[in-house]
Amino acid sequence: MHEVEVGSVPLAKLAVLLPNERATRLEESAAQARETFGDRVIWHVSATAHGGGVAEMLQTLLAYGQGAGIRNRWLVLDGDRPFFTITKRIHNLLHGDPGDGGALGPAERAHYAAVLGPNLDDMFGLVTPGDLVLLHDPQTAGLVEPLRSRGLHVAWRCHVGRDTPNELSALGWDFLRPFLAHAEQFVFSRRVYAPEWIDPARLVVIPPSIDPFSTKNLDLSEDAVGAVLATAGLVTGAEPGVVSFTRRDGGRGTLRLGSGVVLDGVAPPHDARLIVQVSRWDRLKDMPGVMAAFALMAQRRPDDSTHLMLAGPATAGVSDDPEGALVLTECQEAWQALPPVVRQRVHLAAIPLDDVDENAIVVNALQRHAFAVVQKSLVEGFGLTVTEALWKGKAVVASKVGGIQDQIVDGVDGLLIEDPRDLEACAAALGRLLDEPDLAPRLGKAARERVLADFVGDRHLEQYVDLFSRLVGAGKAPVVGPAIR
Ligand code: UDP
Repeated sequence: MHEVEVGSVPLAKLAVLLPNERATRLEESAAQARETFGDRVIWHVSATAHGGGVAEMLQTLLAYGQGAGIRNRWLVLDGDRPFFTITKRIHNLLHGDPGDGGALGPAERAHYAAVLGPNLDDMFGLVTPGDLVLLHDPQTAGLVEPLRSRGLHVAWRCHVGRDTPNELSALGWDFLRPFLAHAEQFVFSRRVYAPEWIDPARLVVIPPSIDPFSTKNLDLSEDAVGAVLATAGLVTGAEPGVVSFTRRDGGRGTLRLGSGVVLDGVAPPHDARLIVQVSRWDRLKDMPGVMAAFALMAQRRPDDSTHLMLAGPATAGVSDDPEGALVLTECQEAWQALPPVVRQRVHLAAIPLDDVDENAIVVNALQRHAFAVVQKSLVEGFGLTVTEALWKGKAVVASKVGGIQDQIVDGVDGLLIEDPRDLEACAAALGRLLDEPDLAPRLGKAARERVLADFVGDRHLEQYVDLFSRLVGAGKAPVVGPAIR
């Protein structure tokens, strides 16, 4: 187990963006939290410090918590490759996907528990009875019971899920269920993700959020976007420069030359219209499907010169995702198989994660540079990449799955593809954006307003205060029976 340093950001920074009544409510909620939690520490435990939506949110929400005078700390599990292979298997199953098809039997259960043992020992050296713990995702489920028996209040949050359970998702839940019996609260991004055996009285729905002031989302001028992308090496025909950027902790960083690596070819021209998908290299994000839909669209528009960029982390950076390198290789093979006229307009980019702030500024610039952003996920817990693009006023074309349905109203603030595997529909949506010049700006304007209304951190922070208050409240009364039925 190792700790991630969390900075401190005053709530006032966020409040500037909010209508008065929301800013006041946020301050009131923070005051309530200080009074209710006092000296208790709120511990978050996750599987990785960077790469993916959970890390993204913890970095910013905890900093606001600190700024509000709440004692948050963030611990990250240490695990070996077999552990993360097992937990990725569970992750895929919860999404209803077979993943690597491997077993989840007694041997996997034993290894899962064995890896969590030393993590628990580390944690026991840090926590105090009465502290509050929010465990994130399947990797941490095995910590519930031991932490409860040490007198901690424990909630478990699952960031993944499936709209309609299937046999595979049931297998994933069968593995987790025994570990979760004593969690006092459960958090899901959508209500339908919760299995029916969870006591509804202990179930809280909290959709994710973004921070408009994080390095990933802060406003950038057009010049700054161009400079970042040229220096990172993600566009050609523009001059690289010395580019500095604001880090999460408020410090300054300098972008390394060539910090985005375009694999298998040259970067797109800086003045080309660019369609972008940013994702981990995960099969369920369907990067090859985006390529195939783009190819359909491009072949039907011989005069168009739009490019596509599929960007994801340099695969060495994501410790909890053993599939990443394999999926990236599959994407490279799919790229090779494209007709040459299309291939020269499709780009795969890997963005290193060794410096998360640098990664964030590059992703920010890429999303801002995009003419349209795609998220063609086959399933999706929530899809922070969608929120990030909507916030940047982009036209988003996304699958009508999971949390994406909560973010986009089709035709109003984005375009939804009914069946995520329907390449024709995806190609048609992209073609519509190219053919109707007013459409992308109209969707983009509504998109930004929607994010400000529903997916900015104040709502999320207030929901966390409610959740942790429930936990403290639950601690006063004896816990009656297990939380699962
Ligand atoms: N992300 C990133 N660099 C990358 C790829 C993804 O910073 O190369 C970020 C992305 O901007 C978003 C998060 O990782 O903040 C992905 O979250 P999402 O909810 O979309 O999907 P998840 O990876 O959690 O399944």
